[in-house]
Amino acid sequence: MSKFSLSNSKKKVLLHICCAPCSACAVKMLRGDYDISFYWYNPNIYDRLEYKNRKDSAVNYAKELDIPFYEEKDFFYNYNNWKNNSLEQCSLCYTLRLEKTTVFAKQNNFDFFSTSLLSSPYQKHDLVKQIARYLADKHKINFLYCDFRPGFYENKNLLRQKGYYMQKYCACNKSKNGKI
Ligand code: SF4
Repeated sequence: MSKFSLSNSKKKVLLHICCAPCSACAVKMLRGDYDISFYWYNPNIYDRLEYKNRKDSAVNYAKELDIPFYEEKDFFYNYNNWKNNSLEQCSLCYTLRLEKTTVFAKQNNFDFFSTSLLSSPYQKHDLVKQIARYLADKHKINFLYCDFRPGFYENKNLLRQKGYYMQKYCACNKSKNGKI
């Protein structure tokens, strides 16, 4: 292959990101082989200040790495969407966020989509994977599955040292109150 090839042959991945610390693991694993863009859609984050802190941090991380950042602006925390029991609630929450991601990826000609939710040992990893595969099939787009969890704490510490925001709970009001 020519060293001076003008074309970028890397496949394009739309990476749904939930926060900067989790996206760090995915970036570390994928960046050598894929052309990554970030996608922000997290209407599960309660409350507005928390939402702003996490989003600003993710935007700054994208700037630091020079990664494109796409954002869905229809944030509105609706309590009615977060009143189910634990497993059902997380399942709905993952589906809500990942379905928007698949649709955006499809409409904008990405080769794959994936999610930083696969980085966190605190998330329901197998459920995220199962939902992402279902949505990939439904919307006819490739899901790039990777277990991003190895190195999670190391990457998180690196970002903490750089001053990135570190959240204390998953995101919804129930998780803030320790009820999920
Ligand atoms: S605990 Fe986290 S994944 Fe589950 S519903 Fe709340 S915000 Fe969503």
